[in-house]
Amino acid sequence: MSKKVAFYTLGCKLNFSETSTIGRQFTERGFEKVEFQDAADIYIINTCSVTDNADKKCRKVVKEALKHSPNAYVAIVGCYAQLKPQEISEIPGVDAVLGAAEKFQLVDLLGTFEKKDKSQIFHSPVSQANTFHNAYSFGDRTRTFLKVQDGCDYSCTFCTIPQARGNSRSDTIENVVRSANEIAESGVKEIVLTGVNLGDFGIQEDKGRVESFYELAQALENVEGIERFRISSIEPNLLTDEIITLVANSKKFMPHFHIPLQSGSDKILKLMRRRYLRQVYTDRVASIKNKMPHCCIGVDVIVGFPGETEEDFVETYNFLNELNISYLHVFPYSERDNTLAENMPGVVPQKERNRRADMLRILSEKKKRFFYEQHIGLETNILFEADITDGIMEGFTENYIRVAVKYDPILVNETKKVRLTGLNAAGLMEVEETELEMLKH
Ligand code: SF4
Repeated sequence: MSKKVAFYTLGCKLNFSETSTIGRQFTERGFEKVEFQDAADIYIINTCSVTDNADKKCRKVVKEALKHSPNAYVAIVGCYAQLKPQEISEIPGVDAVLGAAEKFQLVDLLGTFEKKDKSQIFHSPVSQANTFHNAYSFGDRTRTFLKVQDGCDYSCTFCTIPQARGNSRSDTIENVVRSANEIAESGVKEIVLTGVNLGDFGIQEDKGRVESFYELAQALENVEGIERFRISSIEPNLLTDEIITLVANSKKFMPHFHIPLQSGSDKILKLMRRRYLRQVYTDRVASIKNKMPHCCIGVDVIVGFPGETEEDFVETYNFLNELNISYLHVFPYSERDNTLAENMPGVVPQKERNRRADMLRILSEKKKRFFYEQHIGLETNILFEADITDGIMEGFTENYIRVAVKYDPILVNETKKVRLTGLNAAGLMEVEETELEMLKH
């Protein structure tokens, strides 16, 4: 009988695509993939270093796994495994820990998945994580996350990702187009391009910088079958007018950007060692809105960074309040081991970090509502997704407005033209059909 394997992913879309790819390595070798809550023989947990309490979360997931199957083999991979292999190997129930350079060799390295007396560690310095491993999520969601870039050459003072994932490196355009075609053949209609520093796409092992994100986007425009591409996140200093114009003229790249800002105070941006000041961000937003007035713009922001005074926070608040953006992802600053920010003066008390985060979350809700309300009465295309909650399914407009309709199995993974009619109690957009015929492509 084939062994059963289950997966759990903490963190970002990149981790999600990598878990999916590791999952396919298992199924290709005859393992049976089961849900995490089912009794499996093997559990693979893909960890994150960015989430708060990474250690606590990892312990909890291991405990959960062993509750479902007390004698299961448990292996831990991902950013946290690269940063703290020893610590993780001591968590009761963990059989193996694999670093960034080893995680894609997991099936070969662990072989028979027999439990040993002591947990095994397969870990090399992050400098050895220099090859690019292609990955995409598949079969888990309506949208596929396609990893095109990994690692980061920047040195933001709060971030451990370069230590966990290594230097910036990318797939080739040729390979990405091949993967996109494969994904299209499977019936998926939307691909989200993912990477650690996506705008830095184009550095190849041994060859250096040979391609660019703009060239990648140009090439993907011609992939048959994929109706929608989204760019998961792009640094403001790398979001060129060339890219914005391409998206504005594209039939496939959706009018939606997610651009990390992190702070609206130049003083804090400098302490963070970000590679832009706030004026660059203002210019990027203006350029996008000038070419695509209905474009959705999401913003990442960190509050309570060391040295952030009340005045600095208010500066960020006012900056965002005046900016023509659609929603915020707010993160209270959280100390990470081995970062420069960890020892910076001006520590902001936790309570104050939370208060600032709450204020920005309220602002985000206002921004989102305003953005949604501007669209009421307009006709637009929705791609419906597979998830259902309480008989309601959701879909997204091209510019990322979340729409709710009564579940209809025929709609899953279909694009349909609708009129946006107003917001429901949960803040989701309601619709009325304007086309009875499905727009089948
Ligand atoms: S750009 Fe900065 S925050 Fe983003 S992964 Fe690189 S170092 Fe981290």
